[in-house]
Amino acid sequence: MFTAADGQRVRAKLAEQQRAATGLCERLVHLRERLQAQIDRLSLALDQRRQHHQRRAGSPERNERYCPRCLSTVFQPVGRIRAENGFLKIDLRCGSCAKLYTFVRGG
Ligand SMILES: [Zn+2]
Repeated sequence: MFTAADGQRVRAKLAEQQRAATGLCERLVHLRERLQAQIDRLSLALDQRRQHHQRRAGSPERNERYCPRCLSTVFQPVGRIRAENGFLKIDLRCGSCAKLYTFVRGG
């Protein structure tokens, strides 16, 4: 037979489960925020490293399609076209002196 004491026990158990579920939700939200913050930091670091590498690699970015070294307008695309921060970036190799440079388009 279901007594008032049984009812109290069931209600207590339900309340406990609800607290546990709420706690889990809060921990998940917190974890997600921490992960997002970490992803943001890592993307920023990656961007900086990429820019640093590009500077060191001597692959200047320009919005004109001719060689920064010999001014030749003959070029060949190398690699893939990338989209970065709303810009299209195309790596080109000069057809005359083989200098690599990046053509940037858009904004
Ligand atoms: Zn050139």
